[in-house]
Amino acid sequence: MRFKFKIIYYWLKILTLPRFDSREDIEKHQSKQLKTFAKKVLAKSDFYKRFVKNGTFVLADLPMISKTEFMSNFNEINTKGILLDEALSVAMEGENSRNFKSEINGITVGLSTGTNGKRGVFLASEDERAIWVALVMSRVIKPKFFKRQKIAFFLRANSNLYSSVESSLFEFKYFDIFKPIAELLPELQVYQPDILASQPSILIDIAEAQKNKIIAIQPIQVISFAEVLHESDKIRIKQIFNAKLSEVYQCTEGFLGVTCENGTMHLNEDFIHFDQEWIDDQLFYPIITDFSRHSQPVVKYKLNDILQIRKDGCSCGSKLIALEKIIGREDDVLIFSEKKVYPDLISRRIALKTDSFNKYTITQTGPMELLIGIECEQTNYDSLTNDFQSVLVTLFEEFGISEVKYDFQNNVDYTTGNKLRKIKRLNYGN
Ligand SMILES: [Zn+2]
Repeated sequence: MRFKFKIIYYWLKILTLPRFDSREDIEKHQSKQLKTFAKKVLAKSDFYKRFVKNGTFVLADLPMISKTEFMSNFNEINTKGILLDEALSVAMEGENSRNFKSEINGITVGLSTGTNGKRGVFLASEDERAIWVALVMSRVIKPKFFKRQKIAFFLRANSNLYSSVESSLFEFKYFDIFKPIAELLPELQVYQPDILASQPSILIDIAEAQKNKIIAIQPIQVISFAEVLHESDKIRIKQIFNAKLSEVYQCTEGFLGVTCENGTMHLNEDFIHFDQEWIDDQLFYPIITDFSRHSQPVVKYKLNDILQIRKDGCSCGSKLIALEKIIGREDDVLIFSEKKVYPDLISRRIALKTDSFNKYTITQTGPMELLIGIECEQTNYDSLTNDFQSVLVTLFEEFGISEVKYDFQNNVDYTTGNKLRKIKRLNYGN
């Protein structure tokens, strides 16, 4: 089946999903989906097939895993016989050459960085990409028939996953956030998107440019993803663009949720089963089992995000879990002489350069000062400080930033229970 037809096929399938009238309906749907998932997917995974008995499995018997176990068992977990070393080198080659056509036997391979900044890879087949697109179309961007919508997508990497949607309904243009925003604004002005999609820290910059009349665009919808959108920023973006604002909760591991018409974040429980590890009576870590994935099954996978449940649900009537907010992804942006450097850009560059640390933190402690903590083997420490400094110096030069003072320490300050915020800016009183 051609890719476009696949998208339409899955889109129609999603549109014809029954609306869940109760939590029981959702549970019934999930248990049916999980059974099919066991037969069609888990039985093909060397890691999971031992848990499948008579074509079914008991979710409680499966191990809970995090990114560390997910990556160390990569070869056994994936159902395509792809080896981690091969996948990593293909993904890194794609990223370094910035052509992003990273594929092994038709499976797209992407590079990811997690909360500890370590390298990871994710796999997506053509069907999985089609499902992703269909989900975005049906949940976030409503296609308008007879009018092609232009979407400006600000991304840190143009993985095949995103660039694949060119059709009579949509046209995607990708803006590479490895470039300084000032260079991207004129391009955006020329493109005149109907829909603007980006992480909030960049949306803010684009909104400021609009306010200062550097650009004049009229998007009908603004989509925020990949970082927490703070309430004050939300209001600002809405005011400046006077457009519908949608928030997408998306990470490498899946498309987890999206805001409804009321602005409430709902989890995509019709594709992902969520377990909760409760921190208190409102906060929890999500543990996800994604039954729409088949090349690299994501099963009882604990995310580092801290979510706050919305106890009274949502007045839109949806029975899907409603969130008050996503607490745990408050990554900060570093700012030197009013120039902003985004955290995922830094973590990505570091991941490309080195992987011989356990953890690191980069903290802006003053207007031009950085404190870098590296938790690693003592023998690697000196070469790591050199690697970190050279990555940062090169990156900052690209933004026209120089004279940053670097301090290093051979440990990571970390309070148990808090998410490790690997890159952050302290409130140092400016
Ligand atoms: Zn709602």
